[in-house]
Amino acid sequence: MIALACTVRGCGAELAPSAAGLACPRGHAFDRARSGYVNLLQPHDRRSLDAGDSREAVSARRRLFASGLYAPWIEELGRALADAGVERGARTLDVGCGEGSILAALAERFELDAAGLDRSVHAVEAAARAHPSIAWIVANGDRRLPVRDGALDLVLSITARRSPNEFARVLRPGGRLLLAVPGADDLAELRAAAMGSATDLAIHDPFAEFDTEFERSEARVFTHRVEVLAEQRADLLIATYRGARGREERVLAEGGARTVTLSWRVAVLVRSRRA
Ligand SMILES: [Zn+2]
Repeated sequence: MIALACTVRGCGAELAPSAAGLACPRGHAFDRARSGYVNLLQPHDRRSLDAGDSREAVSARRRLFASGLYAPWIEELGRALADAGVERGARTLDVGCGEGSILAALAERFELDAAGLDRSVHAVEAAARAHPSIAWIVANGDRRLPVRDGALDLVLSITARRSPNEFARVLRPGGRLLLAVPGADDLAELRAAAMGSATDLAIHDPFAEFDTEFERSEARVFTHRVEVLAEQRADLLIATYRGARGREERVLAEGGARTVTLSWRVAVLVRSRRA
C-alpha cells in the first residue's frame, strides 16, 4: 500500500493498517467502511466541503463505462503511460478517481500499487465495491493530499482538479504525472443541445501551471466521434457537466442516435529532479 499520511491537523504521520482500518503511531484512527474504503475527511472538511459527485452522477458514469464508451480512452491513457516509461508496480494515486473504472483498468494493466481518492462518498463506495484489490479513500484532494512526501511514482489527474504544489510534493523526483483535461470541442454537440451554445473549452494552456516543478512532454489530443443513443447522451450530461443538471430531458426528447465528440488533452509530466 502507498504511504498515506494522517489527516489530523498537525499530525501527518504515516498510516498503517489496523484491525479496524488505518491508524497512525500517535493513535489517530480511521475506520474502514463495510464496502472497504477508508474516510480520511476531518470534521472541518465535512462541514465546508462540496460533497462532490452525487449518487446520480456516479450511476450515470458507471453505465457509460459499462457500455464500453470509454474503452478507447483507457487504451490511449495506457499507451501514454507506457510511452512515458511507467513501470510495473508503480506506487500510484488517482486524485479525483470518481467511481474508479479508469484506475482499475490501468492498475490491472500495469500491476500498479494503487490508491484512488475522491471527495464523493458515493463515488468511492461504488469504486470499493467494484474493485476491492485497490485502496479507496475519501479525502479532500484540494488541500493537502493525505500522502507522505515523495512517496509516489505516479499521480493521475483525469478530468479532475489539479494541484501543482501537492502533486510535486507527493511524487518522488523522476515520478510521473498523467494529466487529462477536456479538449476544446469535448461534448460540443451536447453542450450546444443542452445550453444553447458550445463555447470552446480549455482556451488557456492547462498544463502551464506545472512548468516550475515538472518537465513537460508533448501533449496529445485524443478525439473520438461516436454515435450515442439519447439515454447515453443524457448520462454524459449528468456525469460531466454539473451546470447541465436538469437539461438532460431536452436531450432525451430528441431520441435516436447522434454523433458526439469526445476529446481529451493528455500529457505525462516528469517531476523535476532539481530541488
Ligand atoms: Zn495522526
